[in-house]
Amino acid sequence: MSETIFSKIIRKEIPADIVYEDDLTLAFRDITPQAPVHILVIPKKPLPQLDAAESDDHALMGHLLLTVKRVAKQVGLENGYRVVINNGPDGGQSVNHLHLHILGGRQMQWPPG
Ligand code: AMP
Repeated sequence: MSETIFSKIIRKEIPADIVYEDDLTLAFRDITPQAPVHILVIPKKPLPQLDAAESDDHALMGHLLLTVKRVAKQVGLENGYRVVINNGPDGGQSVNHLHLHILGGRQMQWPPG
């Protein structure tokens, strides 16, 4: 896949407000927050989008969700939060490296735009 800004964040070539890191994932604050808390959880593996995940990625996909839960607790989102994956053009994806948005700190609305 082609290089993205998130690849540079993983390699620490550009700064990011990193809140959690392990061997497989990285979590950092979104540069244009859409809620009082807006964090992105990404795999270090360069999967361009959810559609690119294969059965080999089964454990990684589960780990990403458990990382979301861990990070949400770490930053104090006891009252709930929203998890969003934008996939492809119609999904509104703008960075072609899989990422899970954690949005919290305010009441979310439904349906989303
Ligand atoms: P999406 O539109 O789902 O692809 O989300 C991409 C997200 O990445 C957007 O919410 C952007 O604000 C965020 N973003 C882009 N560049 C950076 C960056 N350098 N650091 C943190 N977040 C970023």
